[in-house]
Amino acid sequence: MKNIDNYNFNDKKVLVRVDFNVPLNEKFEITDTTRIDAAIPTIKKILSGGGSVILMSHLGRPKQGPEEKFSLKHIVPYLSKQIGVSVKFADDCIGDSAKKMAAGLQGGEVLLLENLRFYKEEAKGDEAFAKKLASLGDVYMNDAFGTAHRAHASTAVIAKFFPEDKMFGYIMENELKNIDKVLHETKRPFTAILGGAKVSGKIEIVNNLMNKVDNLIIGGGMMFTFIHAMGGSVGKSLIEDELFEVALHIVEGAKQMGVNLYLPVDTIIADKFENDANKKVSDVKTIPEDWMGLDIGPESIKKFTEVIENSSTILWNGPMGVFEMDNFANGTKAIAEAVARATEKGAFSLIGGGDSVAAINKYGLKDKVSYVSTGGGAMLEYIEGKELPGVKAIIG
Ligand code: AMP
Repeated sequence: MKNIDNYNFNDKKVLVRVDFNVPLNEKFEITDTTRIDAAIPTIKKILSGGGSVILMSHLGRPKQGPEEKFSLKHIVPYLSKQIGVSVKFADDCIGDSAKKMAAGLQGGEVLLLENLRFYKEEAKGDEAFAKKLASLGDVYMNDAFGTAHRAHASTAVIAKFFPEDKMFGYIMENELKNIDKVLHETKRPFTAILGGAKVSGKIEIVNNLMNKVDNLIIGGGMMFTFIHAMGGSVGKSLIEDELFEVALHIVEGAKQMGVNLYLPVDTIIADKFENDANKKVSDVKTIPEDWMGLDIGPESIKKFTEVIENSSTILWNGPMGVFEMDNFANGTKAIAEAVARATEKGAFSLIGGGDSVAAINKYGLKDKVSYVSTGGGAMLEYIEGKELPGVKAIIG
């Protein structure tokens, strides 16, 4: 199969779908450049192979047509600096001027197209729109893992116009390789750690992981739905009543599949949802009526870290408590550190989902885990076992 490392880019115009959906402040300055930085190796690889690059992306959620605050022109200076090439900008992603600019590109040059989502056809996966985009280049490359779970014009539909010349960029390749390593080349014991606010967003992940993992650790707000369903008193902690049956089903399923399910035995409770609330340790099943659990307790941390440190494959998604508040960040920090220690001992660790990634960065452990996925929703859907349209479009 053709890929970014074996393809001859000489004199080719390569249309690359990137994820430059970066946050901008009110002065239109980029406040987090991670997504742009991540795409630089892919762009440089094409340029050094003698090709030219046409970058296409979305930015934000424009409602109808062009809007200044969602214009990709704001990122041109930073992008040019990072690539080391003066990036040209087409103020419309299709139409005559984009066509002319694309046609005039020489090897080594880069053109950035204006926000794809200024056209509603993008998110609708409109084929005629995809065809217009496709007409700008000779090769299609998808390097936007963050939107790989969407069947949009530029992420999936466009690929059909390049039956012989389509491939992933380095970000996509890396994401898929690392998630596959966890799901399909698993060294045992395999431990999945799930946290975050709700059970509702995690049910399919649990179902797909159940026949793969040896240990399943559940913390965060979602633990209280389980504890309550199993007869505990959880006070004012976060619960989802409609999911009690689902929670019990998961507990039962774990038993049947021989999966060790670890739920917290203790929790840090607070008398209000604030960092300076009164707090104390409580048994997780006997939380007083007016209190709420905002973190896992010391006994739970001890048990969880022991399981994590004895694992060879680790998947972590979701914080153990309200880690944005320093007084309830202990559990999340301890788990992040345990994952780092396990990695040091040889385990493969994959961290995914916005909040666990934020936690790993907050504690300076990014380089101490095996892989941090930037995929968000796409990563979760891939772990759920779903086929991603952006992946399918390339590998057919
Ligand atoms: P999610 O998007 O489902 O991964 O949830 C992440 C959010 O869950 C974070 O903002 C945490 O503050 C929140 N969270 C974690 N533990 C709790 C808890 N015990 N009670 C309420 N929210 C929590």
